[in-house]
Amino acid sequence: MTEEMLAQDALERKKAWAFLEAAVRLLLLSSPEFRELCRGVLTGGRGFREFELDLRGALLGGAAAGVSENLSALDAESGAPACGACGSAMVRRGTRSTAPLSLLGLLTLRRGYWTCGCSKGGRHVLDEVLGIAGRDGVRGTPAALWALAELASETSFGKAAARLGRLAGVVATAKRTERAAKQVGGEITAWGEAEPALGEAPAETMYCSPDGTGVPVVRRDAGTAEDGRPSKTREAKVAVFHTAERRNAKTGLPERDAGSARHTAAIDSAASRDVDAEPSAFARRLWRAAERFGFAAAKRQVVVADGAKWIWNAAAELFPNAVCIVDIWHAKERLWEVGRAVYGAGTELCRAWSEKVCAALSEGRVDDVLRELRRHAGDKTADQCAGYFENNRGRMRYPAYREMGLLIGSGMVESSCRTLVGERLKCSGMRWSRAGANDVMALRSCVRDERYDDFWRRRRKPPPMAA
Ligand SMILES: [Zn+2]
Repeated sequence: MTEEMLAQDALERKKAWAFLEAAVRLLLLSSPEFRELCRGVLTGGRGFREFELDLRGALLGGAAAGVSENLSALDAESGAPACGACGSAMVRRGTRSTAPLSLLGLLTLRRGYWTCGCSKGGRHVLDEVLGIAGRDGVRGTPAALWALAELASETSFGKAAARLGRLAGVVATAKRTERAAKQVGGEITAWGEAEPALGEAPAETMYCSPDGTGVPVVRRDAGTAEDGRPSKTREAKVAVFHTAERRNAKTGLPERDAGSARHTAAIDSAASRDVDAEPSAFARRLWRAAERFGFAAAKRQVVVADGAKWIWNAAAELFPNAVCIVDIWHAKERLWEVGRAVYGAGTELCRAWSEKVCAALSEGRVDDVLRELRRHAGDKTADQCAGYFENNRGRMRYPAYREMGLLIGSGMVESSCRTLVGERLKCSGMRWSRAGANDVMALRSCVRDERYDDFWRRRRKPPPMAA
């Protein structure tokens, strides 16, 4: 929808609802009881804040009851739906109640239960039409899911539930919030797997920075209950896609363009054996994200990351034409580690040696760096570091990258690991199932990338009810 169509739509909706606003106004104006409550604000010492909250509660309560009764009555009048399996008209087998959470509070719906002779299962058609037939018995309306999931993307399920209670006057439990967040996160993952490329013009240069960060997961896989044993850590693999056409005013160096970052994050495997025809789960997800976010179509592709092997394996497999750059800060940090191991942390010798080899690295003299490292052969840190530089030397041509105007640091993805994953999934006492962690990371990525409203606009609309 264009901006204009959205504005037109909003106007039409406002017109359709104007009668209700007028009716409430009239009711409040003509009610002596309400006049007394207003007087109480002025004279009775009851604060205006409490008045407002009570008024909101009463309006929402009335609305929830009115909506429940109307929908239940309409369901009772509805015609027989066609059976999904055999196509014949289904038969109503009495009514049952349900209490989904909505942004008006709990609704109380009585709706028909429909069955067909061809199968054992039955359906609540009203639930399907309203979109409250959630996975794992979520029983929340779409608006409630929308609000709960967004709040839960920011903070723990318990705090999200409490926040909705305070801000919207709707009481949800932590459990319901968790289910809502996981359902929406799961839907966002499915949407991401199917969504076509975003349809922006191909970028001149686009960056992809993958990185890994540990998430505490519960120590059970099949059947056994959580038994309080310490959790273990699984690696969440995060990738950020972005552009960097902007230049720093002082240094002239490239900087990430504001609002350009797109994320994908999940716990999955980057391992694929040579005999496997299929790429790894991580490689498939990274490719899908590269297609969606325009990296696959970018005129120049740049992968900036630390020296982890799984990253460069995936990059070589998926993006054979990409410029691959080892994040210069990671490389320098490795050299400082050697300096500290060999000369002792904080010593003048450590500082002098580390600065010297870092300068050589900046100037692209990797041979000089390796020569310095080999002088300390036999020291474990120095030997490992030499291996790292040998494996990655083709991705350390920093003067050439600067010449090309490229970003040579991956600070972006590290801050994403911290803010996207760490601040939500690694708080004290948190332990996740792998599926739950993936649902919440998908949800959080979507919200942070400002695509949450897109998702809701495109979310599948339920089928209309039979007349
Ligand atoms: Zn049937």
